[in-house]
Amino acid sequence: MGVAFGLRSTIRRERSPTVSGVARQCSKTGCSDSAAATLTYQYAHAQVWLDPLHAERDPHAYDLCERHARRLTAPQGWQVRDRRAPSRPNLLAV
Ligand SMILES: [Zn+2]
Repeated sequence: MGVAFGLRSTIRRERSPTVSGVARQCSKTGCSDSAAATLTYQYAHAQVWLDPLHAERDPHAYDLCERHARRLTAPQGWQVRDRRAPSRPNLLAV
């Protein structure tokens, strides 16, 4: 009869938020719609990207609802690229 040796689990649970089933909200002030797109930007390149809602929350990204994503306007000199284009199904490569 052996003693269970070294089987004590020391797995640490990472505190990553569970995304499934959790509705994220639009980050626009005063808007309580659920987020439908993720906005990221790169200041150095004056570039804004709109992507399908990221699975994980990114501190450098903003979640936007469909309405605000569509109405997004970039500051003068900035470029907005909407990468959510439905016409390109292979765009969602992981
Ligand atoms: Zn919104």
